[in-house]
Amino acid sequence: MTHRARKRFGQNFLHDTGVIQRIMQAVAAHPDQAMVEIGPGQGALTLPLLRACGRVDAVELDRDLIAPLSDKAAAAGTLVIHQADALKFDFSTLARAGSRLRVVGNLPYNISTPLLFHLAGQSDYIQDMHFMLQKEVVLRMAASPGGGAYGRLSIMMQYHCRVTPLFDIGPESFRPAPKVDSAFVRLVPWGRPPVRVENYTDFDTLVRQAFAQRRKTLRNSLKGLLGENDIRACDIDPGARPETLSLEQYARLANRLVTTTQGR
Ligand code: SAM
Repeated sequence: MTHRARKRFGQNFLHDTGVIQRIMQAVAAHPDQAMVEIGPGQGALTLPLLRACGRVDAVELDRDLIAPLSDKAAAAGTLVIHQADALKFDFSTLARAGSRLRVVGNLPYNISTPLLFHLAGQSDYIQDMHFMLQKEVVLRMAASPGGGAYGRLSIMMQYHCRVTPLFDIGPESFRPAPKVDSAFVRLVPWGRPPVRVENYTDFDTLVRQAFAQRRKTLRNSLKGLLGENDIRACDIDPGARPETLSLEQYARLANRLVTTTQGR
C-alpha cells in the first residue's frame, strides 16, 4: 500500500539520490558508532545509514510507516524503531557506554525549532548532529550579531554547538515538494561552551526576554531582570538593540543577573 504523505507530521520525503549521497558523505557513518535517526519516514537515509554502520536506532511518530520500514530495512542491518515523539524522547537512553550519539535527520519542519532546543538540552550525550532543515532556520542558527536573522535561536544553538551550514537543497528533491528551500547543517556540541554561564536557567530567561520584542532597546526589554545600571556595569549600552549583542555579551548580562538575584 502506498503511503499518503501527512502534512501534520511534516512529511516531505527525500528522493534525490545525489542529495542522499552528499548527506552520507557529510555524515561519514562507520560501524560501531551509535547512530540515531529522527523521522526515518520511508527510509531514504535509514537504508544507506544501516549499510554504513550496521545498526540504527530511529525515532518515528507515524505508526503507519513503521512496519513497511522494518520490512525494507531487514536486509540492510539492525533497525530499532522507537515509535515516539522526538520532542519528548529521552535520547540519553540510547547512548552506549563509551560512545556518544551521532544524530541524523531530515527533520519535520513544523517542529524543528523546539526539537533543536530539546536536543541542545541533551548535548552531553551527543557527538554530533546532521540535519536537513528549512534554510531560513539554518541561517538563523548560524547568524552573527547585527543582522535580521540573528536571535534567540542563534545564541542558544551557538552556546551549545559549533554550527556549520553545509549545503542548500531545493524543493524538487522532496516528495511532496515543500514550499521553502532547505539546507543541511552540522552541529557539534562543544566539550566546554565557548563562554562561561553561571546559571543556565538565568541565561535562557534573559535571552528569551531580550528577544520577546526585538524592536525594544535592552533598557526596556530587560525591565524586571536588570536595571540600566546593571547593563552599564557589564560595559553594554542600555540603548542597544538585542540583535547587536554577541553571545559573550549575553553571558555577561546573565552572570550579572545571577549576582543581582543573589544580592536580594
Ligand atoms: N527521513 C525521511 C526522508 O528523508 O525522506 C522522512 C523525512 S520527513 C521530512 C520527517 C519525518 O519525521 C516523517 O517520517 C515524520 O513522520 C516524522 N516525524 C514527524 N514528527 C515527528 C516527531 N514529533 N517525532 C518523530 N518523528 C516525527
